[in-house]
This record gives sequence, C-alpha cells and structure tokens, in this order.
Amino acid sequence: MYEVYAIKYASVARRAADNFLVHDLHDGQMDLDFYFWLIQGENRNILVDTGFSACSAAARNRSFLQSPEAALAKLGQRTSDIDTLILTHLHYDHAGNVDAYPNAQVHIQDAEMQYATGRYMCYSALRHFFSVDDVATVLKRVYEDKVTFHDGDAQIAPGIELYKIGGHTAGLQIVRVMTRRGWIVLASDAMHYYRNYQNENPFPAIVHVDKMLDGYRRISALVESDSHIIPGHDPQVAHQYPYLGSKDEGIYCLHETPDLKGEQHG
Ligand SMILES: [Zn+2]
Ligand SMILES: [Zn+2]
Repeated sequence: MYEVYAIKYASVARRAADNFLVHDLHDGQMDLDFYFWLIQGENRNILVDTGFSACSAAARNRSFLQSPEAALAKLGQRTSDIDTLILTHLHYDHAGNVDAYPNAQVHIQDAEMQYATGRYMCYSALRHFFSVDDVATVLKRVYEDKVTFHDGDAQIAPGIELYKIGGHTAGLQIVRVMTRRGWIVLASDAMHYYRNYQNENPFPAIVHVDKMLDGYRRISALVESDSHIIPGHDPQVAHQYPYLGSKDEGIYCLHETPDLKGEQHG
C-alpha cells in the first residue's frame, strides 16, 4: 500500500478552446497545471515524471511555482533519495531534470525511446513537444545501465503497475498504484483534463486519435470510479485533494478521498 502525492510545479493560462480537439464548447479560460508525482511506501521512493528543466522553462517562457528540489524537501526527500523514476513519456514537461536523480533506475517504454530518437522527430509539429537535451540525458542513462525498458504492461512492484496507452505519443505509459482507498491511476497525458475523458473529446496534442479514445476507456476499466483517476494537467486535482502543509505549497494527497465539490481542505 502506497501514499501518492501530486506536486504542482507550474501553471499556465489557456483558453478552453485550445484544450479540445473538437471545438464545440463554449469558450472561456481553462488553465493548465503542470504536475509530477511521488509514490512512497514499502521503503521505496518512486517519482513519476520529473517536470520541465530550467532550460525548457526559459525557452518556452514558463516559470516554476517551485523547483523539484524544493518540492521534494517538503516531503522529506532529497533528489538523491529517489530510487525509481518512471517516465510516462519524454515530452519536455515530463522528462526534464533526469540528471538531478543520480540514484534512480529509469523506467520507460521501448516505443517511447524509439519515437523520441527516430524518424518522427524529423517533423517539427511532433518534435516541438520534446527537448533534445532531455532525450539525450535519458539516452546517456541507457549507456550507464540505469534504464529498464518495458514493451507494454508491466509490474514495478506489487501494487505498482504500468500500462501502455496509445494516442498522445507512441509509447506513453500510465501508472496504477494501490492506496488505502484502492487502485488509483496516474493518467499523465493519456488524460489531460477530466473533461477530455468525460466528453471523449481529446486534448489536441495527439499522434493517434483512435488510440487516445481507446485509452480513456481502458483507464476507466482500471479503477472502481472516476474519482480514482488523476489527470495529468487538470487544476481540479489541486482543488479536490487535501493538501499537505499549507494551501499554496502545491502538494496534494492522492491517497485520500477527494472532495468532488472542489472544496480544498488541509
Ligand atoms: Zn505530453
Ligand atoms: Zn504534459
């Protein structure tokens, strides 16, 4: 049984119309939050994704709410304490800073590494979401024998499972974790917002629309209710889950039951 924390490290203002493939929704503002996730228990410290790097932040005009080091310190962790690093995929906002975790074994899908180093990166519309420095850092870890590759679904440890979900990139994997309230799924970019899933109207960063839609249904089948699904970029996560410490510290307890009315409580 594990405790799972969402760490909100950045946020950006967006229009709702930019968050859906089919623009049939009334327009308005719909911000996008950036998170990574910490799984703790059974003497393991497992990080799911690493956020964007300072280089990517500068290149894309984004700013940090908190650095990964500062966020982990709030949870009593140093980056060197992380033993396992699950990269859901290699987009810049999920796979920066890997160098900061020297003791972590990296887990990634074969298809993601092939995609990020192969022919489809000749297209700027697809490579736009990657930072070559992040990809090169992971590639160097392969040569240091610190990467475990998976081809499809896999178990990291009892209670921590990976599922390969198509659509967003070639080799995205989601993470299912056993907590005191049952299995929860860290959906990462297989589900940016709850509304993408509820309306079956995907976020427009996609390589295969059909696989993206199949992914929503597969995620649904992995949990007992929608409140056990954690989307990758939805500000609702910060509104619905109990926070650790004070409200503005950006750390949310996903192993606790969310308040679906969106009332934050400590
Ligand atoms: Zn992504
Ligand atoms: Zn993302």
